Amino acid sequence: MQNSTSPRPDTAPELVQEARLGISVVVPVYNEEQSLRPLYHALTAALERLGQSYEILFVDDGSRDGSFATLTALHEQDQHVRVIRFRRNFGKTPALVAGFSHVRGDIVFTMDADLQDDPEEMAKFIEKLDEGYDLVSGWKYPRHDPITKTFPSFFFNRMVSVTTGVRLHDINCGFKAYRREVLDDVKLYGELHRFIPVLAHERGFRVTEVKVRHHKRKFGKSKYGARRFLRGFLDLMMVVFLMQYLQTPLRLFGAIGLLATVAGVLVDLYIVLDRFLPIGSHQEIHTRPLLFVGILLIVFGISFILTGLQSEMIRHFAYRPDDEYSIKQVLD
Ligand code: UDP
Ligand code: MG
Repeated sequence: MQNSTSPRPDTAPELVQEARLGISVVVPVYNEEQSLRPLYHALTAALERLGQSYEILFVDDGSRDGSFATLTALHEQDQHVRVIRFRRNFGKTPALVAGFSHVRGDIVFTMDADLQDDPEEMAKFIEKLDEGYDLVSGWKYPRHDPITKTFPSFFFNRMVSVTTGVRLHDINCGFKAYRREVLDDVKLYGELHRFIPVLAHERGFRVTEVKVRHHKRKFGKSKYGARRFLRGFLDLMMVVFLMQYLQTPLRLFGAIGLLATVAGVLVDLYIVLDRFLPIGSHQEIHTRPLLFVGILLIVFGISFILTGLQSEMIRHFAYRPDDEYSIKQVLD
């Protein structure tokens, strides 16, 4: 996302200020034709009950069915409905990013378009925000998805909570509520939408979860298969790395590199001493396989240290003060 201090390129900041609303709901849509109308009605009913000003921002992520036609019709009949249409399918993260950079609400909800999330639950999220949390993540409970999804997902959630310290049961739940500041502060790309709570936590925001009712998918197909778990795992590695070592990459690469180099030097030193010292076995150096282990460790170690130094250079040139901290309040 953009920095909180830099103006949005496409909208004048004053206009955004003037048009402030209570709630924005961002809905990423990819081939969800049949779900859209029922979703719109359920969402509108729930939002009207909450009694705040609101907008519903659909982001059509390059749908190839009738989704956009339906959205156009909804937009024409209801001024609360806004629609962003992508040129092609870019993915859920870009869809959310586009939505986030156009929202006008102080509270931003995200919700899947497939009717699996229940708009009636929104009040629960708002209660938590009122308690002082900045991000409230849904926890689908009980969850109505096939076991091929719930089982890997259980492991994924455990792994995330162990490695990042963000203890959520259902981090990838599409149903979430944010204070708008969170979204201005978190950088999303690739498929990082799964990790928004972790990224927000890292920036110092308070994160919690609420149990939400979950429904079976009625129409259309799930867009994500088993492949997401390998990708999710690699993304987790990246997130953990960024959280721990983005500030000081040399500390990671340098430590591993130094250890390997020292180990390599010791191994080769042993071979040399063993050849020449009176108490050694006097074996010829070039006949010993261990020699190559030592050499490999040294080469590997030095290149790791160099990678660390290069990362520090990238960090140096990419330096932006806003990235170094996140301000909650200023008394001036
Ligand atoms: N989605 C999207 N772009 C994509 C894939 C999915 O906007 O490339 C939307 C999709 O329309 C839905 C939400 O993201 O509103 C979640 O997708 P899905 O229900 O397929 O995921 P699952 O619930 O199976 O994890
Ligand atoms: Mg779904």
